[in-house]
Amino acid sequence: MIVSQAHVVSDPGAYAAFQIILEDSAMAMNRIQFQPGLSMPEFFHRYGSESQCAAALEKARWPSGFRCPRCGAVAHCVLRGGSQKVFQCNPCRHQTSLIAGTVFQGTKLGLSVWFLAIYLISQAKTGLSALALKRQLGVSYPSAWLIHHKLMQAMAEREARYVLAGQVQVDDAYLGGERSGGKVGRGSENKVPLLAAVSLSEDGHPLRTKLTPVPGFTLKAIAQWAQAHIAPGSTVFSDGLACFSAVTESGCAHQPTVVAGRKPKELPEFLWINTVLGNLKTSLTGSYHAFDFRKYAARYLAAFTYRFNRRFDLSTLHTRLLIAAIACAPHPPRSIRLAEVHC
Ligand SMILES: [Zn+2]
Repeated sequence: MIVSQAHVVSDPGAYAAFQIILEDSAMAMNRIQFQPGLSMPEFFHRYGSESQCAAALEKARWPSGFRCPRCGAVAHCVLRGGSQKVFQCNPCRHQTSLIAGTVFQGTKLGLSVWFLAIYLISQAKTGLSALALKRQLGVSYPSAWLIHHKLMQAMAEREARYVLAGQVQVDDAYLGGERSGGKVGRGSENKVPLLAAVSLSEDGHPLRTKLTPVPGFTLKAIAQWAQAHIAPGSTVFSDGLACFSAVTESGCAHQPTVVAGRKPKELPEFLWINTVLGNLKTSLTGSYHAFDFRKYAARYLAAFTYRFNRRFDLSTLHTRLLIAAIACAPHPPRSIRLAEVHC
């Protein structure tokens, strides 16, 4: 489903370091795979009823108690309780519900359905399809699709707040198209071009990743991408594709690796990019099968990176996604279906 190309070759002397990084990465993957998540019995114990979900939502939204979204005052009265709780601000009389102004606004589904969706999506290692959500939640497919996309939108908006900094590996890749019969390689038809980037710690371990659909691999597109997603002063490592030199326009240093004869997955310079792209391929083929790449690529990619960038925090991912959903402005179904997320 996804193709990555990097026409590069590396310094053969780097392979000793490469082996050490590989061993470190195996240990890191074990730390990720064996960390305790939130068990299903524990989830139902905490969030099994509407009133529990309402209390958890209120606590997550206003950790220090209700604050009027219009004027900021804390003095208020409660007009209605339970999951339909309505607050009225004393000074300005503004009324707001628990879900008003959040991604849940306008929903006719119970909070317990949303909480279960957040739990299932946050705990699923490789993502979860709308069809799987439909089955697990016991709702219609259109409802499951909307829940899925609204939560992915919340993840995308969270991810958009971060830029990559320091040492950043970048590569060009494509989403979709492998089975379309189009020609293979850069410039293939029926594919969504995307930029994959991973920032590294000083000892070469991955910190954060970004996967961004771009109009094409042009100097202009790379310059705009770097401006939006890479902190000035970073060093960008890429293959020899000419357009990557445009990262210097946003104050980044550029270190291309230009060699021939070896596939990119064999190159230590691109270990983490290829690991991320490999995980993405597994996630998309295992969970989503097919979706409208051109329309929804950014949202699916952001949902993947959201999970990857929080891979060491499985036990708190549910709470974090709840907070992201609260912070995400309401999106009417029409805008979710039509609008592409920009992040
Ligand atoms: Zn007020």
